[in-house]
Amino acid sequence: MNKKIFQKFPLGLLLLFGLVAISRVGVATDIQSNTAIRVLLDRAIPKGKVHSLLLSSYYRGNPSRGWIRSGKELDISLGYSPAFPIQVNSQPVNESFVFVRGGQSPSDKLRLQDGVFRGALKWTRKENSFSVVNYLGVEDYLLGTLGEEMSPSWEIEALKAQAVASRTYALYMINNPKHEDYDVERTTQDQVYGGVDAEDPRVQSAVRATQGEVLTFNQSPIKAFFHSRCGGSTETPRFVWNHGGVFPQQKVSCPYCIRFPFAWQTIVKAEELLRWTGLSLKTPFRIESGDRGSSGRLASLKLVSGNQRAVLGTDLLRSHVGYTKLKSTKFNWRQEGDEVSFHGVGNGHGVGMCQWGARYLAQQGKTYKEILAHYYPGALIQVLK
Ligand SMILES: [Zn+2]
Repeated sequence: MNKKIFQKFPLGLLLLFGLVAISRVGVATDIQSNTAIRVLLDRAIPKGKVHSLLLSSYYRGNPSRGWIRSGKELDISLGYSPAFPIQVNSQPVNESFVFVRGGQSPSDKLRLQDGVFRGALKWTRKENSFSVVNYLGVEDYLLGTLGEEMSPSWEIEALKAQAVASRTYALYMINNPKHEDYDVERTTQDQVYGGVDAEDPRVQSAVRATQGEVLTFNQSPIKAFFHSRCGGSTETPRFVWNHGGVFPQQKVSCPYCIRFPFAWQTIVKAEELLRWTGLSLKTPFRIESGDRGSSGRLASLKLVSGNQRAVLGTDLLRSHVGYTKLKSTKFNWRQEGDEVSFHGVGNGHGVGMCQWGARYLAQQGKTYKEILAHYYPGALIQVLK
């Protein structure tokens, strides 16, 4: 039994997800394919009561006290002050958290206002902050995320490549969680997760066909980044984020996604660029390009006035402008008056698998293993049981 996982998930949930008997075939990684992942659903709970309608449910506060049978609906109130205990159906729970799961079996689904979810849900209050976290097996998690990250209508080999990449990313995050209360968020910060509503038969086929398959390096899951389209070449994490990680993710040529023409442009006020540097410069200032990598991506912009200069990293620039507007760092820019226009290709950070490139390769008859080998050179595909 993996000690880390065992400590993270109380025994009741281990039983819930069937994580008791663990066998490892062919790989010495410390995780299993049905390991539970913790997905943050919500932390912006408004003041006042939180109501959730759940189908046939059990709940408990402390895991050692076992599950308590309930009716089909639960009314959970976290209150908005630590002075008020969490209540379930008006009964106080003398813990700072409460778990809820389906009543009949672990495969029961839970309905909240914003969707339907497999597995269990955990409400937690810490001081004045709240969280709702979905605990579920990784394979079930993939059913709810794959179709949000790649169109279910795409070629099945592309979907299978995405399934392995998404599974690998999820398992990496379980080993390297974002927060003590959850492993991943449900947004593009990690992988978009839509729960049961996002499930699709073709997604299910891709997940089942690759069950337990994971990309590893030195016997551990890699942080399998992926993005929409690279625009001709992928990039290294060190260039994009100035950090490398354990897996030496290489940049690779991708003359594939550009078979699907795509270009974008956006306009930003020059004074905004200066504000985002956090520095002050005499105006007017001129803009210069920083380093441009061999993949065509720009690392930074330099704002220059006399002998003063301020540097703005392009990843930070994207976060301020918006990732959906400044779609990549593979752009040219033009300063016109008090505005700067950006014209670019590619969509996403450019690290790891290029999804549109994967689609093109699938259309050419490549298998998902060939697609993954192209975008993650040096990683192995191993099977977790
Ligand atoms: Zn590409």
